[in-house]
Amino acid sequence: MPSTLEDFEVLSTIGSGSYGTCKKIRRKKDGKILVWKEMEYGTMTESEKLMLVSEVNLLRELKHQHIVRYYDRIIDRSKTTIYIIMEYCDGGDLAQLISSSRRTGSFLDEEFIWKMLIQITSALKECHRRKNGKAVLHRDLKPANIFLDADKNVKLGDFGLARVLHHETSFAKTYVGTPYYMSPELVNNMSYNEKSDIWAMGCMLYELCALHPPFTASNQLDLNRKICVGDYSRIPLRYTDDLNAIISKLLRVEVHKRPSIEDVLHDSVVVRRIKRLE
Ligand code: ADP
Ligand code: MG
Repeated sequence: MPSTLEDFEVLSTIGSGSYGTCKKIRRKKDGKILVWKEMEYGTMTESEKLMLVSEVNLLRELKHQHIVRYYDRIIDRSKTTIYIIMEYCDGGDLAQLISSSRRTGSFLDEEFIWKMLIQITSALKECHRRKNGKAVLHRDLKPANIFLDADKNVKLGDFGLARVLHHETSFAKTYVGTPYYMSPELVNNMSYNEKSDIWAMGCMLYELCALHPPFTASNQLDLNRKICVGDYSRIPLRYTDDLNAIISKLLRVEVHKRPSIEDVLHDSVVVRRIKRLE
């Protein structure tokens, strides 16, 4: 039987993002704590709504240890709102971790950054290379969408939804802040592709090391220029050349020289690290 709003009790509001509001909820039948994301679809066109439904259906098939599990969706027609029910992640996210490290002036351990690299890569692999399905691109990789569990393992959230919701108006809304992770191809108005996810992953790993994004500028034009020529400094010297090498590959300006998700998994320095973790 499909769930209804009455099957859940709202506990608190976690926060609002670009597309809606997340609330912590309790499933009445067994007390399980979950979250739902409420999204208003009243202003969407019919084709956008269809896309939203198909994207949410795709999300339900994504089952992976490093991807936030999607459970269900409820549509409330009277409020033209869709509720996407998913796993609750209570270990914070990488955005919080970066800002608290910056505040205390303490760098993150290299071991931890390798673990993030490997787990994010394995989650992206699941989406970019789905058996008998088309690739799901993340499209909104950023520290705030990488959650941690109690053991500091990655849970990647907000998969794919950006595709539906990045229509003209919400795209502008998303990028109210500075789009530090925008790839050179996007700066040049080309379409989002798998390599754009790889670029964003590179920016995120760089930021975990340096505690600031690889490309920063006081205005958009300057930022665009730096992104397009690949003008950034090495990650802090406390990190190894191996880590620097892989992050530099993820940040290759030319799309065809940037590794695919398999290339990352098969990269010799990554393979060595995976073996160490096993
Ligand atoms: P955005 O990703 O644009 O910041 P979201 O709507 O995805 O906005 O998230 C709003 C808030 O809810 C954020 O603080 C985020 O950390 C939190 N959040 C989102 N999904 C989950 C989840 N599955 N578990 C716990 N917190 C979540
Ligand atoms: Mg989010």
